[in-house]
Amino acid sequence: LLALPGLPTLAACTAERTAGYGGDAAGGQGALIGISMPTKNLERWSRDGANLKTLLEEKGYTVELQFADNKVEQQSSQIQTMVNKAPAAVVVGAIDGSALSPVLTSAASLGVTVIAYDRLIRDTESVDYYVTFDNYNVGAMQGRYIIEALGLDDGQGPFNFEPFAGSPDDNNARFFFEGAWDELDPYIRSGQLVCPSGKMPSSVEAWQSIGIQAWSNTTAQSEMENRLNSFYSTTTRVEVVLCPNDAIALGVSQALGGAGYGEADWPVLTGQDADQANVARIVSGRQSMTIFKDTRLLGERCAVMVDQVATGSTVEVNDTSSYDNGVTVVPSYLLDPVAVDADNVTEVLVDSGYYTAEEVGL
Ligand code: BGC
Repeated sequence: LLALPGLPTLAACTAERTAGYGGDAAGGQGALIGISMPTKNLERWSRDGANLKTLLEEKGYTVELQFADNKVEQQSSQIQTMVNKAPAAVVVGAIDGSALSPVLTSAASLGVTVIAYDRLIRDTESVDYYVTFDNYNVGAMQGRYIIEALGLDDGQGPFNFEPFAGSPDDNNARFFFEGAWDELDPYIRSGQLVCPSGKMPSSVEAWQSIGIQAWSNTTAQSEMENRLNSFYSTTTRVEVVLCPNDAIALGVSQALGGAGYGEADWPVLTGQDADQANVARIVSGRQSMTIFKDTRLLGERCAVMVDQVATGSTVEVNDTSSYDNGVTVVPSYLLDPVAVDADNVTEVLVDSGYYTAEEVGL
């Protein structure tokens, strides 16, 4: 690859990386930027991809956007194809946070700056920056919502509680679960939260045992159906479900509806992403809350980062200690997530222009 005409030499790239530039054929405004997103099938990623592409094009960049169908191999080869075109940067929303090492080593050797988008890329030094929401706090907000909604602080309970975690290969899923668990653990210990199915990890480290592969709503639905069929009845009802995101919350909700849960006994149910269908369910009382991570702000921050990389300016970050990927601590820019429930849905999601009132059934 290094012998191809038009591509920078390894030595030149290394020098430029040190100086904060992309590859030399690549830098400057108007340069090529690659974006690799995990899948089109979850609402947030198609929104994120399209939004970021538009923002970068508005800044004058040429953008190649690819979605990888949640297939690790496909994502690696898509990134490799982009990297071979010597872009100034590639922005990667990783499917499997630990599987991209070879292709990113190749990116680094060509002087391509790698920005991890939303999900940390692990086990490689070839990741330059990370832009995301404060993932731990997402889980902590879900946990605190449950505590307040059930009055756990006032000693209420015991409540029948079923926890779910996100995809075992997604580093974010660990942070979400940890954040929630740190809040909820005291009430599990006090016996105010009990788990009839026994699907409660023995410790926070064991979170993957209740992870839903690829964040699939259908997998979540059948898991919840199994729990309801085996451990619940017309007299034993589930009262609270920790769902790490809206896709999982939707699957769990299908199972609850199928098992005859209704307005009177719908459990406290958390989510994340403010997907349209879920926000409509918050409005109609079938989901308690979601965590809104404004993809517009994430896109804007990422576009600023790309621009700073491509023009050789100092890249702004606001966290240089939290995200150790196993090999290096990745300089990060963290944004604040916002909890949304029926009380603030109009203010946060409609007044800000994210959805129209009609789109979410208001
Ligand atoms: C993202 C979440 C999303 C999930 C499934 C996570 O890495 O941070 O916002 O719900 O992936 O796509």
